[in-house]
Amino acid sequence: KEIVMGGIRPTGFLHLGNYFGALRNFVRMQDEYPCFFMLADLHSLTTHPDTKELKNNIHRVLAEHLASGLNPDKCALYCQSHVFETAELYLYLNMMSMVGELEKTPTFKDKVRQHPQNVNSGLLTYPVLQAADILLHRAHLVPVGKDQEQHLEMARNIAGRFNHRYGDVFPEPVAFNFGSELVKVPSLDGAGKMSKSENQYATLYLSDPDDLIRKKVMKATTDSGPKEPNTPKPDYIENLFLLMKLVSTPEVVQKFEADYNACTIRYGDMKKQLAEDMVNFISPIREKAAAIQQDTEYLKKVMVQGAEKARVSAQATMKVVREAMGLNYY
Ligand code: ATP
Repeated sequence: KEIVMGGIRPTGFLHLGNYFGALRNFVRMQDEYPCFFMLADLHSLTTHPDTKELKNNIHRVLAEHLASGLNPDKCALYCQSHVFETAELYLYLNMMSMVGELEKTPTFKDKVRQHPQNVNSGLLTYPVLQAADILLHRAHLVPVGKDQEQHLEMARNIAGRFNHRYGDVFPEPVAFNFGSELVKVPSLDGAGKMSKSENQYATLYLSDPDDLIRKKVMKATTDSGPKEPNTPKPDYIENLFLLMKLVSTPEVVQKFEADYNACTIRYGDMKKQLAEDMVNFISPIREKAAAIQQDTEYLKKVMVQGAEKARVSAQATMKVVREAMGLNYY
């Protein structure tokens, strides 16, 4: 059976993009594959060096994983920093990674723009650490959103270079989504994707209270509506439909599609419907996560159990890696 590896950074509360790009697939995959799911705290340090909030974020994000349906008995659910072998593999893989290629990564360029005062080399080698996370379990399938497609390509390049030099150790991992396409959940302002650390008013968080969800959805960009039947939708309207497809019933989506095509759509009504469907989707996860987060003993148990499972897999891989590299001198 193919092995699955997925991760989310504990840089803040999770949002709909994390849910539909990653978590929803995690939950389905745990029943079908051996799975490793990781809270990527080391990745957080590249852009969030202040660790005052980290413990709280780890607890919250772990609770959100559990509230979304992950079962720690079915998968290995762990913190990246608890699996020390990650750091060793990251070091070796750095020798398999080309600086020119890393510098060209669009996410690196974005992060440089967002954090010009902290362009550290961890930011540059982010895809290498990500490759280490995946290859540490010799994983094939990586459930990610569309924004991560290029990182996966780099992980494949790195794995390929390692295999070419030292022998066949790693499978070449591929991005995975249960639908045919990778998901990109757009932000409500029509500019880019929902994200933990960018425009928080244009992102719907799994922790948002009902009223805030309503307020954010009602503020989403619209216009006065199409003037001609069957005109193509502008991006910001397409985004609203995309969000609606995630949380509303097909009948509701069809109704508004038909209204759009007939030029009778009232965006106020559409947003009201979307807001209610969002509230119904998000509020049970929010309530559940809040309750789980209180139970710090349980969270600790989950983390310890997850790290144990992940380290068994990591240690087995590292034994093979060291041997393949000729780092065995006795
Ligand atoms: P940050 O803002 O801190 O960079 P992020 O919200 O972009 O964080 P990550 O922790 O980098 O999230 O990504 C976790 C997972 O969520 C990845 O699989 C990523 O592809 C997915 N993801 C993040 N944002 C979206 C989005 N808007 N649509 C679909 N998938 C997403």
